[in-house]
Amino acid sequence: MSQDKIQKVTIIGSGPAGYTAAIYAARANLEPVVFAGGPTLEHPQRVPGGQLMVTTDVENYPGFPEAITGPELMERFQKQAERFGTVIHMENITKVDFSKRPFLLESESGLQVRSETVIISTGATAKWLGVKGEDSYKNRGVSACATCDGAFFKKQDVLVVGGGDTAMEEATYLAKIVNHVTLVHRRDSLRASKVMQERALNNPKISFMWDSAVEEVVGDGKGMTGAVVRNVKTGDSKLVNAHGLFVAIGHTPNTELFQGILETHQSGYLKTIPGSTRTNVEGVFACGDVQDSYYRQAITAAGTGCMAAIDAERWLIEHGE
Ligand code: NAP
Repeated sequence: MSQDKIQKVTIIGSGPAGYTAAIYAARANLEPVVFAGGPTLEHPQRVPGGQLMVTTDVENYPGFPEAITGPELMERFQKQAERFGTVIHMENITKVDFSKRPFLLESESGLQVRSETVIISTGATAKWLGVKGEDSYKNRGVSACATCDGAFFKKQDVLVVGGGDTAMEEATYLAKIVNHVTLVHRRDSLRASKVMQERALNNPKISFMWDSAVEEVVGDGKGMTGAVVRNVKTGDSKLVNAHGLFVAIGHTPNTELFQGILETHQSGYLKTIPGSTRTNVEGVFACGDVQDSYYRQAITAAGTGCMAAIDAERWLIEHGE
């Protein structure tokens, strides 16, 4: 890529949103460039392709009736984007200057890119507990997404950690599938909205362990078999048998790069103008989980990626490009 060239569309991030934006932009002859990201010092586990790269079977992405693994699905997204000429750099953008157009972006290897429009699809990172055994049993019991993985725990006992809306939603969703859900919360009252609390509290298949924290995830090497849960008031610990542990203590949108530059909601997610992917900076668009704290699905991310490419294309036409 010549550093003198002014790109029409540069996409930061490479999950379902970023690659879908690339497919649409490439097919519209906008020759998109994608910076797919990768591990950083603060986030050593981050990989190009986003959150699906750390899931096993994806059973709810339409078009794959026999399911597909997350990494394989992302490889297909990538190949489809490349087929229409998308240029992909497997590195992070480390600096953006949106103060004048063309915008200026800088990558960790020192590449400087000037671009008429930018599409941000940097995603979000699930928060984890950071306890012993959690990492070892990820995808073998430990998950951060009930919609993605709940069906693997049919008729089994599972734990959900958290006291917010996500935890209530995950617990209520799982209760329809599994044998029993135990919700573990570190305090004696919930943060979730009243209606979601009541739904969970009145569900006979959900029980609550108050003032409790998961201390360790245990298993037999193949899969998780339980968790050590400590009562934070009494200090007593006990082993709770369960095959699944759903960590629902929130997500962090990956917006470090745009702090003080783009408007965010109080929750930290990027603000877009409703019904569009436009941010507060003309010519900068956001799609996928970085701007969505609510749906957070691969298919919804892909949908907004498509919207971002169309928004960018129309913006370029309106601005005489
Ligand atoms: P949240 O509201 O920030 O709740 C996180 C929960 O996890 C809190 O109960 C917190 O405990 C607990 N927690 C945080 N760190 C923990 C740790 N290290 N160990 C144990 N527990 C920990 O996050 P969220 O539930 O993901 O919701 C995020 C936003 O999305 C909210 O605005 C929510 O309303 C919205 N949302 C809405 C819906 C819906 O309306 N259908 C669904 C999902 C999410 P404390 O309470 O003690 O702080």
